[in-house]
Amino acid sequence: MISVEDALNTLFALVDPLDVELVPLRQAAGRVLAHPVAANRDQPPFPASSMDGYAISESDYVAGRSLKVIGEAAAGTRFEGTVDQGQAVRIFTGAPVPEGATWVVIQEDVDAEQNQITIRETSETSPYIRPAGTDFNAGQTLEAPQILTPQLIALLASMNVDAVPVTRRPEVALISTGTELVMPGESPGPDQIIASNTFGLKAMLDAVGARVRVLPIANDTIPALTTAFELAKGSDLIITIGGASVGDHDLVGDVAETLGMERAFYKVAMRPGKPLMAGKLGNAAMIGLPGNPVSAMVCGVIFVQPVIRAMLGLSKTPVPHAKARLAQEFPANGPRAHYMRARVEDGQIKAFERQDSALLTVLAQANALLLRPPHDPALQTGAEVAFVPL
Ligand code: AMP
Ligand code: MG
Repeated sequence: MISVEDALNTLFALVDPLDVELVPLRQAAGRVLAHPVAANRDQPPFPASSMDGYAISESDYVAGRSLKVIGEAAAGTRFEGTVDQGQAVRIFTGAPVPEGATWVVIQEDVDAEQNQITIRETSETSPYIRPAGTDFNAGQTLEAPQILTPQLIALLASMNVDAVPVTRRPEVALISTGTELVMPGESPGPDQIIASNTFGLKAMLDAVGARVRVLPIANDTIPALTTAFELAKGSDLIITIGGASVGDHDLVGDVAETLGMERAFYKVAMRPGKPLMAGKLGNAAMIGLPGNPVSAMVCGVIFVQPVIRAMLGLSKTPVPHAKARLAQEFPANGPRAHYMRARVEDGQIKAFERQDSALLTVLAQANALLLRPPHDPALQTGAEVAFVPL
């Protein structure tokens, strides 16, 4: 049995960032930017008015002064001339500020009649001009790697970037194993149960950027498992669920090894999730998850999501942990890390009474996995503990 940290580091060593592809900006949201991207121009590309009003010389910004309106500047259509002392140009938001103008007096602060304006008494001190390049300059870069949020997509568009280099999404094959399993929506026989964590894992991994293929359920036989691995070919990551313990029907490790899997580790000192397996099968990494629904989901959070992020070129780091105060006391923990289903509210954390790894209702109510490290001593109410937010 190896520690959670060693298992995660071993998994990181099995994967590399995938190749880079260029995608249109409109399809880039949520993808991982693979290389820095530079702005193609200044923004704004010219000094721009930020209000509707009149462009004037700052020295004319004196209450009671009358100025002659000599033209108009609108967004998209500049005024070609120059603004001299005693003159004004009608200007609208987003329009280029004309030559000679150094101030925009807002329209609420003038009395306008025909071709003349008179500046009113005002306490306004902003020139309402955005200098060229106030947002960014040509050549300014967006750093990589990072996930492209809607904010970054807007910024890239503004930089006049219409296609971005992103890391290819990892292809993940998800193999559910178990003669007892049927898919949701099918008619289960009296001894059958519904494959559940399969769908939870698909949702979890799609959410961090993988492309998950749910393969047909494999019975606990050597031919069925062999066929399943056959179907998984071409994937970057093969994940099996179940069949990884030491029972007579737990054949996943044997079949994978017959097919050439090089085992990296088997069994991790954690609860739930002990019978976790990992290795390399051809070019693909393989992770064998335990079948119990909660175990598989917890291993998904602690191991598989970070592995997907690493394949996307993001940092090889564990899932973020936060801190909260215990709303209960605990006896000392044993030799395995315990990820307890828990709820955090107002900085106080409490584990659920029932911690059986088959209980999806409890997992569904949890918003945290409270971490008891191996050999953690007994804890009093109010002690600070680490947890993984769900
Ligand atoms: P195993 O790891 O195959 O021994 O499975 C442990 C428990 O998890 C058994 O009760 C299985 O029926 C159950 N199980 C295995 N795979 C799944 C799955 N994909 N969805 C829900 N339960 C499962
Ligand atoms: Mg099984």
